[in-house]
Amino acid sequence: MSIFELNTTHDPRRQSWVESANVAEVDFPLQNLPLGVYEHEGRVSWGVAIGESVLDVQALANLRLLQGDALLAAQSVKGSELNTLMGLEPGLVHALRRSLSALLGADTPLDAFEESSQKKIKRLAKVLLIERDAIQMRLPCAIGDYTDFLTSEYHTERHGRFKGLAQPLPSAFKHLPVAYHGRASSIRVSGTPVVRPNGQFKDAAGQVVFGPAPMLDFELELAGFISRGNPLSQPIALDRAHEHFFGWVLLNDWSAKSIQWWESVLGPFLGKSFMSSISPWIVTQEALAPFRMPLNARPEGDPQALPHLHSAHDRAHGGLDIELEAWLQTPTQRALGEPGLQITQTHLKHLYWSFGQMLAHHASNGCNMRSGDLLGSGTISGPTDESRACITEITQAAKVPLDVGHGETRIALQDGDAITLRAKARHAGAVSIGFGECTGVVLSAPVYPHLESSSGAGA
Ligand code: CA
Repeated sequence: MSIFELNTTHDPRRQSWVESANVAEVDFPLQNLPLGVYEHEGRVSWGVAIGESVLDVQALANLRLLQGDALLAAQSVKGSELNTLMGLEPGLVHALRRSLSALLGADTPLDAFEESSQKKIKRLAKVLLIERDAIQMRLPCAIGDYTDFLTSEYHTERHGRFKGLAQPLPSAFKHLPVAYHGRASSIRVSGTPVVRPNGQFKDAAGQVVFGPAPMLDFELELAGFISRGNPLSQPIALDRAHEHFFGWVLLNDWSAKSIQWWESVLGPFLGKSFMSSISPWIVTQEALAPFRMPLNARPEGDPQALPHLHSAHDRAHGGLDIELEAWLQTPTQRALGEPGLQITQTHLKHLYWSFGQMLAHHASNGCNMRSGDLLGSGTISGPTDESRACITEITQAAKVPLDVGHGETRIALQDGDAITLRAKARHAGAVSIGFGECTGVVLSAPVYPHLESSSGAGA
């Protein structure tokens, strides 16, 4: 079974008996079935999102309402982390998706069960359905390692110009997907507030100071979770790289640009590691099969990718037809009940490198990946003004303030501002599927310990 092959779980004609899943443009129709971990009435469980609800898959398995490979897959999960499931052989993961699709389908027979027991099973499944409003999402797995790439030429080139670099695009950019090792311990699930960090930076007068970071920004990204890893010293061929992705989530790579631009000698450090946010539902590799698309042709005159980063298969199928957007809501807008301002509208196709190339490059020196590792795409900025995917780009590095209405402007995020990321996979002939939300509100920086006892000295 090829991961890119379409099957009955993708059939656009199929609907669910969960009515809210059949509404047009809903994020979680029957064709999506993203996986997540949540807490409900004090109990931690995991399941699939369907319409406005979630189906408790752990309970399904406990009650033996799954059979065969689907049951084996569900039973592989120990505790409240999906790493073991993510690392299973793809056939088992597919069996689970197929069973859940049949179970939640309006009219599909459950092929593993006797016809007489099917009505009873669907009735029991209804009991295991919970409103998503009633649950609290958690991180879907233990994230051992997190790597963040830099794969939008537009984002990279603009930042190079803002910094006044003679050569805004680094010379390696078109030869390899640039990346740095991020901090996995501070990744949090959507809804967690982001506390403005304290840090060292150069102030407007050019003095090196320490304090609350003034230029706080968001970065709109998509991030892929690794399914099965590779042994140390054994690279991953680009043509097999897609088999090592389990699924994708939205990623907000919160960035304190004032800290980052001052500290970056070996790459980002404290300007990024204070926190990153992800959306809670993993949209699986299999769910995204109908949204595969060719990569953009490399512009005339660009260097040819070296053989280990080039494959005809990746060029033909390595892209995903995913639209992404970012919304900013100020405290004033929140007080007035306004949804805020859409400040970014972009598409994954603007990236110069595919996720397959990112992974093949990452493992090309033999670096080993593990199930649950996370690979961020980098800010998904495009060529146009509306596709700029962080405030630094939108304001041209604070030169052109962003009008947020009510007489207010922004050159960076202020305390109380909230950023919400959304994404939708759309493709001709397929039912669109969404990623849910990745949201977070900015809280003020804590008073730094050495200031609490010294009446402001040392600021
Ligand atoms: Ca980033």
